[in-house]
Amino acid sequence: MASDDHCKTILQFFMLERVITVSSLADLMERITGSASNSDALINKINERIQEFSQKIVKATCEVTGDKMYVMIFTADEADVKSQLTKDQIDYFYPLMNNIITSSGSLALITALNMAPAVTMARVSLADAEKYIELFVLKRLLLLENGFLYLSPLTIAEFGPYITENYALDPCMLCKKMLVFGESCPSCSAPIHVQCFKDFLQNSKKAVKCPQCKEQLSVAA
Ligand SMILES: [Zn+2]
Ligand SMILES: [Zn+2]
Repeated sequence: MASDDHCKTILQFFMLERVITVSSLADLMERITGSASNSDALINKINERIQEFSQKIVKATCEVTGDKMYVMIFTADEADVKSQLTKDQIDYFYPLMNNIITSSGSLALITALNMAPAVTMARVSLADAEKYIELFVLKRLLLLENGFLYLSPLTIAEFGPYITENYALDPCMLCKKMLVFGESCPSCSAPIHVQCFKDFLQNSKKAVKCPQCKEQLSVAA
């Protein structure tokens, strides 16, 4: 059972890092407490304490890497992003997020850089944009993989209500949760998270059918 001191240590970690994979948290807790302990129970305990500060730790799966993680979010209107970024950075971040969402969840870095002057009335130059994207990645707001930008699990969790309100996104056909980046059924084009699809294939013994349109998706190995 995690003590109050353990809670404090883990909370301090979250305040600095905001994001940790489920397995790293288990390792961290084992190092702190000296034994394997229940992460969910500890997170619940921390959440009871931080809810009065409009903060919450939630579980999320990275749409790109499939990593299961805990992310610490602010539940009050994207307030944290606004306090952490300058006005120019915010004016660039929102259109960038918009373009990523409307480009099926991934945007080429070069496109992201080139759009900066146009969406900010030239207040953000190409050189600034390069620095800002580096910052967004460092702050775990965006992921940069092989020259493409994606929304991070932190951003998807924190901006969840904003995204739901502003975009008509179909949820993942398997887990029914919000999907910004993923794959889709070739027949009915229902979206599906990459990791949900992998888990689904692994758990299916024979031919795999789309849960939505019942067409064959692929044959499990
Ligand atoms: Zn899913
Ligand atoms: Zn289908």
